[in-house]
Amino acid sequence: PREGGTPRHVTARVAPLGSRLVLALIEDRTRERQIEAVRRDFVANVSHELKTPIGAIRLLAEAVQDAADDPEAVHRFASRMLTESDRLSRLIHQIIELSRLQGDEPLDSPVPVSIDDVVAAAVDGSDMNATAKKITVLAEGEEGLKILGSEKQVGAAVANLVANAVAYSDPSSRVVVTRKRVGHQVEVSVIDQGIGIPEAEVDRIFERFYRVDPARHRSTGGTGLGLSIVKHVAATHGGEVRVWSVEGQGSTFTLVLPQHHGDDAPLRLGPFTS
Ligand code: ADP
Repeated sequence: PREGGTPRHVTARVAPLGSRLVLALIEDRTRERQIEAVRRDFVANVSHELKTPIGAIRLLAEAVQDAADDPEAVHRFASRMLTESDRLSRLIHQIIELSRLQGDEPLDSPVPVSIDDVVAAAVDGSDMNATAKKITVLAEGEEGLKILGSEKQVGAAVANLVANAVAYSDPSSRVVVTRKRVGHQVEVSVIDQGIGIPEAEVDRIFERFYRVDPARHRSTGGTGLGLSIVKHVAATHGGEVRVWSVEGQGSTFTLVLPQHHGDDAPLRLGPFTS
């Protein structure tokens, strides 16, 4: 044993082994095992998900070789290779993002984040896909709201929600990003008029790699990781994500985060003490 400190397992042994302690130890082990199972599942899923685009790129490269004297076919295969490699890099980026967020620990050094900036960045960033589908993305709601946390993480979360709203909406529809204060919380909602989510699937969409009807959604180039990233960002910020959806009519995803009331400087560090 170390000097000056009692190792945890010794503390456990000398403490009266009441039923509560035994239960706590069993719960600890069970939780450890569950975490290990989730980790193993995740690694298995990651391998599977990475193999799919890599396999597709390989097949397409072979097709390009075989079609060398057909420029039109070469062009077609090459552009599909581009699509698949974009998906692959999105996938890798999101896997790294997700592994950083795991644990849902509160942030070490949260800073005041302007929700106006986050919303503006998400709306501007949606341009390319939205323009292609002639979807109007609008920002509305109360200005000047702030939260305490990471602008990068909250920005990525709202951008993911906007990207989904655009991906799962018909051309020429509207996506509205709105924010308001409710009590001591800030609610950022992304509202679409898209395909909606079947009631039976709503609880599952936040699981890693889960996609409603993967065949139909393949064309969106999604990874099935976006919403689990959003969920983890909400957790690390002491908030939550809510979803309301009607199939065929649209969905509303709301990121609920504790509001930051204080001024910006000097900043006291520490989890969410504003
Ligand atoms: P993906 O990369 O597939 O979009 P997400 O984790 O972001 O992965 O979302 C999981 C699934 O939830 C999507 O595949 C889609 O089926 C469904 N989904 C997410 N957002 C919306 C939305 N705004 N409208 C309809 N379905 C959605």
